[in-house]
Amino acid sequence: MTSPRFEEGALIGVLTTQPLDRVLDYRAPRGGCAAGDHVEVPFGPRKVTGVVWGQGAGDYDPAKVKSAIRVLDLPPMRAPMREFLGRVADYTLTPMPAMLRLATRAPGLTDPPGMRKIYRRGHGQPARMTPARARVLDLLEEHDGLGFMLGELADLAGVGSSVVKGLVASGAVAEEEAPRDVPYPPLDPDMAGKALTTDQELAAARLREGIAAGRYGTTLLKGVTGSGKTEVYLEAVAACLKAGRQALVLLPEIALTAEFLTRVEARFGAKPAEWHSGVTTTERRRCWKMVAENGAQLVVGARSALFLPFHDLGLIVVDEEHDTSYKQEDGVLYNARDMAVLRASLEKAQVVLASATPSLESWVNVQQGKYARLDLESRYGPAVMPEMRAIDMRTEEVPSGSWISPALKGAVMQRLERGEQSLLFLNRRGYAPLTLCRACGHQIGCKHCDARMVEHRFLKRLMCHQCGETAPMPETCPNCEVAGKLAAVGPGVERITEEAQALFPDARVTVLSSDLFGSARALKTRILEIAEGAADIVVGTQLVAKGHNFPKLTLVGVIDSDLGLQGSDLRAAERTFQLMRQVAGRAGRAEARGTALLQSFQPEHPVIRAILSGDEEGFWAAEAAARRAAGVPPYGRMAGIVISSPDMQQAFDLGNRLARLDAPLRRIGAQLFGPAPAPIARVRGRHRVRLLVKAEKTAPLQSALAEWAAQVRVPANARLAIDIDPQSFL
Ligand SMILES: [Zn+2]
Ligand SMILES: [Zn+2]
Repeated sequence: MTSPRFEEGALIGVLTTQPLDRVLDYRAPRGGCAAGDHVEVPFGPRKVTGVVWGQGAGDYDPAKVKSAIRVLDLPPMRAPMREFLGRVADYTLTPMPAMLRLATRAPGLTDPPGMRKIYRRGHGQPARMTPARARVLDLLEEHDGLGFMLGELADLAGVGSSVVKGLVASGAVAEEEAPRDVPYPPLDPDMAGKALTTDQELAAARLREGIAAGRYGTTLLKGVTGSGKTEVYLEAVAACLKAGRQALVLLPEIALTAEFLTRVEARFGAKPAEWHSGVTTTERRRCWKMVAENGAQLVVGARSALFLPFHDLGLIVVDEEHDTSYKQEDGVLYNARDMAVLRASLEKAQVVLASATPSLESWVNVQQGKYARLDLESRYGPAVMPEMRAIDMRTEEVPSGSWISPALKGAVMQRLERGEQSLLFLNRRGYAPLTLCRACGHQIGCKHCDARMVEHRFLKRLMCHQCGETAPMPETCPNCEVAGKLAAVGPGVERITEEAQALFPDARVTVLSSDLFGSARALKTRILEIAEGAADIVVGTQLVAKGHNFPKLTLVGVIDSDLGLQGSDLRAAERTFQLMRQVAGRAGRAEARGTALLQSFQPEHPVIRAILSGDEEGFWAAEAAARRAAGVPPYGRMAGIVISSPDMQQAFDLGNRLARLDAPLRRIGAQLFGPAPAPIARVRGRHRVRLLVKAEKTAPLQSALAEWAAQVRVPANARLAIDIDPQSFL
C-alpha cells in the first residue's frame, strides 16, 4: 500500500501530541511529504512534532495556514498502524493525541541520528610495542574485524584509553564513525529447538500453517505448566522469522522476562529486543527505531510493546493471556489482549493466546468459532494436576488467631518428614489486613483514602495498598491514645509465616510477597534458591502462581479459598477458579503427584466444587450461562465511569447531572446505574463516584457514551474516566 504524496504547499492534516480534539491543517514542506511521515510543525511560538494524517480539511483561513518545517528522518508511520491507532481511540474513547503519544513513547526520537566512534584493527603497526599495546591488538585480532567503543575496548584489554588513542595515531587501530542505534543481532530460526512430543509437534504444525498462510487468525493455546506451551509457540516464532516477518511476545510480568530471554537465546542463538519499564532510555529508542527499520526480528515486552511501529508484524503471542495486568488501568484504558487481536487483523498476522487457565472471553470466542483452540497434554501424563480436597473449616478446631487447621498441619508434617516442600497460599500481603483498638474500637485507616492501613510487621510499618502511603506502627491508639490495645485482626502472609514458624519450629519457613523484595532481580534470585530447595515451607501471595517452577513442591495448602468469592466483581468466580487452579498446579511434578488442600467455610459453593472436581469445561459452561443470563460481558457490553475530585459534592453533582442527561444512552437501550460512591470512595485525597453502563452486545456503545459525556463540562480539578470493558470495579 503506498501512502498518498503531497507536493510542497499542498494542504495536509497533521496529528500532533498536543491536547487538541482535531488534526491541524498545514502546508506540505519543501520537497513535499507523504501520509505517515513524521514532521516538525510550528505551533504558536513553539515547534512540535506530528504525523501527516492525510489531506488537510481546508476549513481554516488559507492565508493563515502555516508551512510544516521539515520531514523528520524517521521511518514513516505505516497505514495499518495509523488505522490501528484510530480504531483503538474509537474503541477506548481516547483522544487521538494521547494515542500518538503512546505510539511515539521513545526518548530522543527527533534527535539527529546519533553517531559514536568505534575502534577496530587498522593496517599499520605501532613504532614501539609495549605489553599494553600488544593486549589491545591481540584482542582486536581475536575478535576479527569487530568494532568496540573506546571504554569497552580499554576495559576488555585492561589498559587506559590513552593506550588506544596512541595506537590510533600510529594507524594500528582504526577509529570510525558508526550509527548509535544498531540492529539487534540476527536470530537464527534454523537452529534446532527442543525435541517435541507428538501433540506438541501437532500443535506447532498447526501454528506454522497459520503463519505460512500469511493471513489473520487467533489461536488459544491451552496447556498446564510443564506442557511445553513456550516450546510450541517458539516454533511459531521460528516460522514467522523464516517467512521474513517480525514477531512480538507479550509477557505479563517483568520478573519473567529474564528467564524467557535465556530460552530465546538457546533457541535462536541471540537475545531479542526488549520493551518494558526496566529498559534504559537509550535501549528504548534503539528498540523503537529498529522495530520500524526491520532491524529487530523479535520483541519481548510488556503490553505497551503493542504500539511499536513494526515494519512487518507476522505474529503476536500473548503469554498468560488471562492475566489481569494486560489491562492498562490508567491513562489510555485498553486491554492488550484484545487490542493484540485487533492489530493482528490489520497486519494480516497470527495471534497465539497462551494460558493454562484461559479467560472466559477467550473460551467463548473459541465456542463461537472466532478463535481456533489447541490443547497440550502434560508431558507427565494425567498425574500433573494434583489431588484436590477441601478442608471443611466448620468442623476443624482452629484456635482464635490461628489459620492453619489440624488437617493441613498434618499434611505439612508428612512433607517435612519426606524432605519435600509445602506451599501455604494466601492472596493477602502484609501481616494483618486490619488493626483495631480494643479499647475504643477504632480501625486505623489511610489519611488519603478510604482504605484500611495494612500492617507490614517485617517492615515495621503500616501501609495503604491503594496509594502506597506508609506510617510507623503506632504505640498508642491514634483515636483514644490508650497504649498497648492495638490488635491485628485477620491474617496476611507475614502472619501465616509467623504461625508456620511456631507450628514447625525445625522447618525453614520463607515468605514470597512482592513488597518484600527491592527489585525484580532480587525476587528472581530468591525464587531460584527456593526452587533448588532453600526452604521447606513457602508462604506466598499470587506471585507464586505466575509461571514459576518449584520441582520439590508436593503440597499446596490454600489458607482461605473463599477470599475471592465475596466481591461484587462479575469476574470473581472466574478469577478464583483460575487462581486456585494455577496455585494447585504448583504441586507435583514429574515423579510425585501433588496434593492441594483448600481450606473453606463453604466447600459446597459451586466454584469450590468445580475447582475440586477439575471439570474445567463444566465450570466455563456454567459460568458462561450465568453471564449470558445476566447480559454481562462477554455477552453484553459494559462501561465503567469514574468521576474523581478533591471535592465530594462536586463529584456527586457531576455524576447526578450525567444521570439526568441519559437520553443518548436510553436511545441505544443501555441501562445506567449510579452515581454511587466507588467501593474505594477516596484515593489519594480524591473522592470517587462510579457510574456503570450496561448495553446489549450489538449496541453502538462508544458513540452513545461520547455523545452522553459531551453534554457536561468537567470542572478543571475533576476528572471523568470512561473504562470500556472494565476489569476492575473498585
Ligand atoms: Zn482506641
Ligand atoms: Zn491511601
